[in-house]
Amino acid sequence: MLIAGNWKMHKGPVDTREFCARLRARLHGFDGADVIVCPSSPSLHDAIGMLAATEIGVFAQNAHWAKEGPYTGEVSPWMLKDMGVGGTLIAHSERRQLFGETDESAALRVEGSLDAGLHVIACIGETEGEREAGETENIIRRQVEAIKTVVEDENLERLAIAYEPVWAIGTGRTATPDQAEEAHKLIKRLLKVPVLYGGSVKPENAEELLSQPDVDGALVGGASLEVESFAAICEAAARV
Ligand code: PEP
Repeated sequence: MLIAGNWKMHKGPVDTREFCARLRARLHGFDGADVIVCPSSPSLHDAIGMLAATEIGVFAQNAHWAKEGPYTGEVSPWMLKDMGVGGTLIAHSERRQLFGETDESAALRVEGSLDAGLHVIACIGETEGEREAGETENIIRRQVEAIKTVVEDENLERLAIAYEPVWAIGTGRTATPDQAEEAHKLIKRLLKVPVLYGGSVKPENAEELLSQPDVDGALVGGASLEVESFAAICEAAARV
């Protein structure tokens, strides 16, 4: 089981140090799941320092595909690797919806990050309109196939997919365990990697969602911002 906390654009370096100190203490000795936090770029350095002596991993939230070059404002996956970052999210739905991320650019980013030696959690998921139009399966197939084309077999062990139905992110609405299971089963038929569920995962619903046979963990947004709720989700993962 893998539980990853996506902090989005929250927690600068000071808050990050405080949060990591408390998380470190709260999860001391915990080995029931792999735990990762994904701070925003200015806080990565502090998170890495604070969590260095723990099993808690630190991932970025995005990475460019090139090693270096004229890409003002972008972050190189090789530079992330150099600074001790373990991996990165790619193509979170907020990147797709607000910042023009496409299947093609997502695939390039996945490829660059894997080439740089990072782990990748690549995010996919349908919008509410797509679900209502009966397009969920097609969207999942299209998004997974785009990623699949760039992943070499030897890099597969560093890739996970996060299935995050867009209508469930930050809305308090979750996919039902059956909806999540159906999507995860399809994704795993297309690509043999762990699949995390994301979309309003909370301590109250985590155990039921994580109990589904093809749910291998969770990508948690809002509930990862508080030590207690994030730790409670990690503990729920350890129970399933
Ligand atoms: C996310 O940001 O990836 C996410 C799933 O957010 P939330 O848990 O707040 O819905």
